[in-house]
This record gives sequence, C-alpha cells and structure tokens, in this order.
Amino acid sequence: MILRVAIPTPLHRLFDYRPPLSGTLKPQVGCRVSVPFGQRKVIGIITALPEHSELPLDKLKPAHIILDAAPVLDGLQFYLARWAASYYAYPEGDALSQALPALLRKGEPAEFTHETLWRATPGASLDALSKSATRQRELLALLLRNPKGVSTDLLRVESLPVPLLKTLKDKALAETFIHHPTPLHADEREEGEILKEAPLTLNTEQHQALQNIAAGSGFNTLLLEGITGSGKTEVYLQAIQQVLKEGKQALILVPEIGLTPQTLARFKARFQVPVIALHSGLTDRQRLDAWLMAREGSARILIGTRSAIFTPMRYPGLIIVDEEHDQSFKQQDGFRYSARDLAVLRAKHEDIALVLGSATPSLESLHNALSGRYRHSLLTTRAGKAMPPAFELLDIRGETLNCGLSDSLTQRIETHLAQGTQILIFLNRRGFSPSLICHNCGAVNECTRCDARMTLHRSPPHMHCHHCDRQTPIPMRCNQCGSEDLRPSGAGTERTEDFLCHRFPKTPVLRIDRDSTARKNAMSQLMAQIHTGKPCIMIGTQMLAKGHHFPRVTLVAVLDADSGLFSADFRGMEKTAQLVLQVAGRAGRADHPGEVVMQTRHPDHPMLNALIRDGYGAFAASELQMRKAAGLPPFSFHALIRAEATRQGWAEGFLRDIREMMEEQLAAPSGSHWSGPFPSPMEKRAGLYRAQLLIQSRQRSDLHQLLMRILTFLIQHKARNKVRWSIDVDPLDS
Ligand code: ADP
Ligand code: ZN
Ligand code: ZN
Repeated sequence: MILRVAIPTPLHRLFDYRPPLSGTLKPQVGCRVSVPFGQRKVIGIITALPEHSELPLDKLKPAHIILDAAPVLDGLQFYLARWAASYYAYPEGDALSQALPALLRKGEPAEFTHETLWRATPGASLDALSKSATRQRELLALLLRNPKGVSTDLLRVESLPVPLLKTLKDKALAETFIHHPTPLHADEREEGEILKEAPLTLNTEQHQALQNIAAGSGFNTLLLEGITGSGKTEVYLQAIQQVLKEGKQALILVPEIGLTPQTLARFKARFQVPVIALHSGLTDRQRLDAWLMAREGSARILIGTRSAIFTPMRYPGLIIVDEEHDQSFKQQDGFRYSARDLAVLRAKHEDIALVLGSATPSLESLHNALSGRYRHSLLTTRAGKAMPPAFELLDIRGETLNCGLSDSLTQRIETHLAQGTQILIFLNRRGFSPSLICHNCGAVNECTRCDARMTLHRSPPHMHCHHCDRQTPIPMRCNQCGSEDLRPSGAGTERTEDFLCHRFPKTPVLRIDRDSTARKNAMSQLMAQIHTGKPCIMIGTQMLAKGHHFPRVTLVAVLDADSGLFSADFRGMEKTAQLVLQVAGRAGRADHPGEVVMQTRHPDHPMLNALIRDGYGAFAASELQMRKAAGLPPFSFHALIRAEATRQGWAEGFLRDIREMMEEQLAAPSGSHWSGPFPSPMEKRAGLYRAQLLIQSRQRSDLHQLLMRILTFLIQHKARNKVRWSIDVDPLDS
C-alpha cells in the first residue's frame, strides 16, 4: 500500500510515501500524516491509498507517523477543498490545509480543550454571604445561574472579580472541575425548546420567500432579493427554525462579524440552541473547539465569514449567505476561492437548501435567478411601519466644497439636527487628505514603492500609503523644489470630521473608519453611543455601509457619488450602485422616514438616475443587457493570470512568453480568447511591477481546460523563479 499525500506546498502535485514503520494507527483517506519533505518534517493529508506508485518502491520514503485515528476531513470537506483546488487552479495540498483550523495544521490532536471550569457547590446559596459582600454575591449568583460551569475567561469578559473565586472556594461555596465536552447523540438534539422568543408574523412576501426556501426538501438555491429593512433576517430566522426542528444545523456566512454584532445578537435572542460565531477574534484554540462542536453536531447555528464555508456539519440543514454581493466572500490572494460560489456546490453535495440574500444582488446571482437556475423571491416593502428613504441628486457643479461638503448639504444637516435626529455622512476615503501637493512646483507626495499617492493623516500625524502600508513622517519641504508650501488637497474622513466639529460644535461627531476603530472595543463604544439615539453626526467609510441598523438616522449624505462612475473596471457601476444603496439603507428605519442626498457633478448620469428612480432591479436589468451585448461576465467567464517581479518588464515578458506558448501549442476552443499581457492598473505596488493576462471563454468548461494547459506552461517556465505568478478564476477586477 502507498500513501498518496497532499502537502502544503506551492507545487501542483501530490507525493507518494510508504506506510510508517512505527505507530499503531491505520492509514485512512482524510487522516493527517507526518512525513519527511526535503530537510523538513511536514504534515500532510492522505488523499488516496493506491496499490502502486509511479516511482519504484525503494525510491519512496516511509512516512513518520499517522496522526489521526479517524479522518479529520470528512467526505464533504474533502470534496469541497479538492474541487476548489482544481477549479481555482490552486495547489491541492495548500487548499486542503486551508480548510483545516490552524491547530490541526500544526499537528495538534483533533480534540476539545479539557478546561477547568467553576461552579457553585451543591447546596450553596446567596444566604451564606452577607448583604454587604456585593461583588461576592454577584459572582455566586452567576455561578448559580450556570450549573454547567463557567470559565474564568467568561468572568473576565463580564468584568467579574476572578480573584474572589478563591474566597468563595474557601467558604465552600464554589469549586472547580474538569470539563470534557462530549458529543451529543442524535436523539438528545430534539429535546427541549428551540425558541427563546416568539417569531414575528410574516407578511405575504416573507411568507412566500420562506416557502420558496423549502428547507428540508433537498437542494435548491433561492435568491432572496429584499430592500434593506424588508425583513430578510426574519425570513432567515424562520427557515433556520425549521431545520432546527428537524434536528439539523444551519451555516450562515456574513461579510464581517465584528462589524455586525447586532445580527449575531438577533440569532442568540431568538434561539435557545448553541450559536457559534467563527470570527477573527477567536484564539486558535477557541476556533478548533468551535470547529469540533460543528463537526460533532452540538453547535446548531454557525455564523462565520468566508473561511467558515469549510466548517464541517454533522447534520447539515441549511446554508445562508447574507449580503451575497459582498466582495469579501472572494479571497483576494493565495487561494482565491469564492465562498458564495462554493456554498452552491456544498449545498448541492449535501442536498440542502441555500439562501443567497441581498438588497443589491450581484449580477451573477441575479442572472442565475432570472434565467431560472435559482428560485427568486422579492421583498419589496419595509417590514413594520418603516418608510423607504427619498433619494435626491445634489448638483455640485461649480460649487466650492468645504472639506467635501457643499453649502446646501451643510444647511440640510443643520435642518435635520434641529429636529434632534442623527445624520450619517459617507465618504469612502480615510485619512485627512488623499494628497499633499507642493504649491510652488505642483509635485505630489508619492509612495516610492507604489504608483500611488501617499495619504496625509493627522491623528496621529504621518503619511501613509494605503496600498503597501508604507508610513513616513510628514515632509517639511518639497523633495523636488525645496519649497515649504505643502498643502493638502481633497478631503478624507479626518478632514471632514474636523470641519463638522467646527461647524457644529454642540453636536458629537463620530468618525467611523479603519483608523478610528483599530483599538479593541472602539467600534462597540461608538455603536453604543449611536444607539443611545441622541443627535450626532457619523462620518465614515464603507464600514458604515454594512449591516447596521440606525433607526434614528434621518439624513444620509453620500459626499462623492461619482467616484465609481467612470472607472475602467466594467464592474464599476455595479459596485457603485451596491455601495450607494447599502449606505442609503441605513436611513429611515422604524418610524423616521429618511432622506438620502448624493453630491454629484453628473446629475444627469443615466445610471444614477435609473438607480434612484427605478431602483436596483431596473438598474441591474439594464446593466445585464449591456454585459450581454458586450459578452462580459456573467455571460462569459474570466480568468486572470497575474505576474509580478522586482524589475519592470519582467512580469510582462514572462506573460508574453506564456501567451506565445499558448498560441503555438493550443488551439483556443471557439468562444475563447485571450488579451494582454498588460501592465496591471496600478503597475507598481509594494515595490513589485505587475502585469496580467486575461483569458475569456463563453463556456466555463473551455476556460477550465485552457487553464489546465496554461498551468503546465507556467510551472515549467524557466523564469518562474524570478517572477511570481498566480491564477485568479472569476476575478472581481478583470
Ligand atoms: P433586513 O434583514 O431585510 O434588513 P430585518 O429582518 O432586519 O430586515 O427587518 C427590519 C426590521 O423589521 C426589524 O426590526 C425586524 O424586527 C422588523 N420586521 C421584520 N419582519 C417583520 C414582520 N413580519 N412584522 C413586523 N416587523 C418585522
Ligand atoms: Zn515643489
Ligand atoms: Zn505604497
């Protein structure tokens, strides 16, 4: 018997080993194995146990040791990761390893932590403590409420005095024990009440959507297209309720958990069952525990970001991808998979329902829905009494802007503040100013490592390249002419914040961007202040556009509606429309009708007008027609071969070679063609010169076939050590 092992390396191949000479565990497909690899010892995954190898037996090294008694990767995960590796032309060993939690990649056993927990002793009661010992009483009360035990971590999170546990122990009121989580059995899952609170009564559209999901009757995909506030989340909750009733699990993918704690809170408020959030704040240990709980079936609801698509479920019931249009579902480097697209594959393989939800669906999903491949439900009205916001294009041609704001917008803000409501201002540019310009010679402060300007930041003061993260002090004089007259040009969130603070000194101005929320808890403090409902002005980047509910906001202002209108990217319009509507969706919830004002220098722009007059659906339909006429995705399929190198010309030369090899050796299937290589839109980035070659096919299978052939050229090219290349299938920026 031979072990065929996937090893995390950039090499596009598997490796054969003989079985280990020692150890008692039986080799099985899906188990981890420690093997010699060059001078190193690495952990790989057994992908097959063939009888023979292409190499003679005496050329094969024996593996060191088998690490698992049972496969760590179940059949589904194995299938999903291997399929994705092949589809995205990514090395299989790397792909499989990325489907595992970090600790398993490092060789830790696939077991729960055996944690020391605290609980109250039998018979302990608050009467044993004097009334004045408030902190001790608080602590004991918590232990009494949690007979299954609590960890000291949890107590710290709740700001309870951990040292007082010892005091309680000395009084024989508290004790420790070792907690071994044990798998639940199928019949235990059905016991007990699922709901913590009653579900809402669905309106007709919501009810139809719920029926369309048909949770429990096998694979089908529903595109749930509902304007913000139309009650999509309520539909998710009730679909989940159905699968929980059948004893099954639900997986929900969201763009970013940290930004939307409210969504998580709603799931926890609705259900009694364990809800597990897989987010970046977890330690590797917590992540493994969560993964194990999902695998054994005791975690019933799993909420996570992109990588959670690889989380195993013992009793799969339903997958939901919320905000399915969000770009974060596609990994942008390394293993460039789309979690949304893998969700379709996974749901099909597990034969369960999939819901893709969004107020502004991607044109890909919309196309699938309109062509009948997916079911399609629309939620067109806001649930409850909330009114949709009114849109307005504010013509700023010929106006001088004050730190990004026109006079008429400033007046509008004043009017709304006088009503005692909140205001949200959207500017997708952080920092103080996007450029620092010499007033004497016109030179702009640029990044030395990128084809880009350095952004001026005031808090703290420095220059920052947002593309490579390079940071420098603010220059005192121009490096071209020596003049000291350097002036910021244009406004970022810091500058607009400054202006608003001066202009509206009595109103709190809250800036919400990556810089202002970098500190731990900063975001939740800002959110807490907003949710007091007191008047304030929020100024923020797209961080504000996602998932929040701000019921007291009556005015949303988009400072620069034009930024995406004329981009070279054919997806520019789609992205702009999605962003604008997502931001607008924050306003006018509950009983405060909202107003959305967009500053533009193109008030007659057909797309902007179609969007605000007829809504996203109409805009998307006309955009799809254009894509169809031009043969662009989703009516064709793209892959980008990207390359980068330390010298200008190398990457492009490399890709030109690849193209020549293709032209000599491959007959492009009809309906396929390639264009380029071209320098990338920002040619130099982080010190590397970049180029790309676009492959386009009418048929997905043709594209794939071509890529497999191109891959062999890439692997064999002699310059492969000087040039770093990667393949991006279904890129978001082709
Ligand atoms: P979305 O996810 O589409 O933005 P939500 O599910 O968050 O919408 O719903 C918006 C608001 O409307 C929430 O406060 C929710 O509780 C309420 N809501 C949703 N469905 C109903 C319903 N059927 N009846 C009454 N209120 C509802
Ligand atoms: Zn100068
Ligand atoms: Zn840079």
